[in-house]
Amino acid sequence: MIKHLRNASLLTLGLMSSVIANAHDDKNDESVTLYRVFVGDHKAPLITAFDLKEPSQRWTFETAGQAKLYSVADHGVVAAVQSDADQVDFIASGVTLHDHGGHADIKTSDPKAITERLKGKRPFHLLEHNGYVSINMDKGGYAVALDAHKLSKGVMEKQRIEQNHAHHGVVVPLKDTWLSSVAADHAEEGKAPPRIGIRSVNVDGSAAGELATCTNLHGESFSGNYLALGCKEGVLTVNTSQSDLQYIMHSYPEHFPKGEMTGHLIGANSFQTFLGSYGAKGMVVIDPTEKPTMQLVELPFRRVDYTLDPIKIYNSYVLTEDGQLHQINLLNAEIENSARVIQPYSMDGHWNDPRPRLAMAGNEILITDPKAGLVHRINSEDLSLIDSIKIEGIPYNITVIGGSGLTH
Ligand code: ZN
Ligand code: ZN
Repeated sequence: MIKHLRNASLLTLGLMSSVIANAHDDKNDESVTLYRVFVGDHKAPLITAFDLKEPSQRWTFETAGQAKLYSVADHGVVAAVQSDADQVDFIASGVTLHDHGGHADIKTSDPKAITERLKGKRPFHLLEHNGYVSINMDKGGYAVALDAHKLSKGVMEKQRIEQNHAHHGVVVPLKDTWLSSVAADHAEEGKAPPRIGIRSVNVDGSAAGELATCTNLHGESFSGNYLALGCKEGVLTVNTSQSDLQYIMHSYPEHFPKGEMTGHLIGANSFQTFLGSYGAKGMVVIDPTEKPTMQLVELPFRRVDYTLDPIKIYNSYVLTEDGQLHQINLLNAEIENSARVIQPYSMDGHWNDPRPRLAMAGNEILITDPKAGLVHRINSEDLSLIDSIKIEGIPYNITVIGGSGLTH
């Protein structure tokens, strides 16, 4: 009910503001496009931020450890998840985008650390859905869900959702329930118990629904109303539009290489599709609503990182260890263009060795180059190098906030 009221008032506001927008002329309007880049160092507990149009002006933020960075709360906040330091820091991005119906309004100020920080044992996966930012505490046996809108105002309103056992898992905030990954009752000596599936739970961790099997569950993501999860058996999708949740296991097709699984997924924002990993050298394009449900992309070398293009929405970009960036069409799962953009980085060695990471900034693909201490700007039109920005230390994880709007 609250939800409905909120939608209704938003709709009214939207109508009002479009009337206002039409009433005043463009005389005092200024069109602003701003992309603010946040880069986490591999070794130093430090985040460096800068605007793409003025990269020499820097802001820095001290953390407790290496941080994986996420843009949350509609570009308003950057979350810095420090798994090894048992801490999550938040930075108010200094950029707010508000929908004014026909256009967005943009407001900018300096980014600023939010004073309150979240402590917990081994925070890891972060997922934002339904107005909550959910962070799993892998060694705590629970997840913390933060109200995303309040977080954008610098206020931390927390809910704690218990899990059956401490494990490398996830809690997904849905409208009427919480979905939690479920771990086995037995674990190997010195290891976290393996993940066996997902189910609806109450905040105290008690079951509120049947277990849906998903062995080794990993890589949760949303596209539209669908949640997708990588499993040993296939990709499990959950249609969350009905309160009676529909779980469907899509088995890996016969012609896919055997013994591999999807372990990471990115859902598209503008249409129904997911791009997932499939083993070290494969990618899979998934649409739970169309046939073929899964299309395989075979890469020439192992994958380092990948991202989706939020503007040219059928494009995605995958970096392979030979230093080539591949443009993959999400409709036909074909590699349409490839270009050498960076020195090679081997996928052998430790999983957390410094390797490049990708992020999108409008029509640019940004790639960190830890060995060279650079962030490369690649034109998404033809995969050509625009420029490289020098970053002190070992630039590693990266996220970008911002967009385009009017100030008036
Ligand atoms: Zn406006
Ligand atoms: Zn993980």
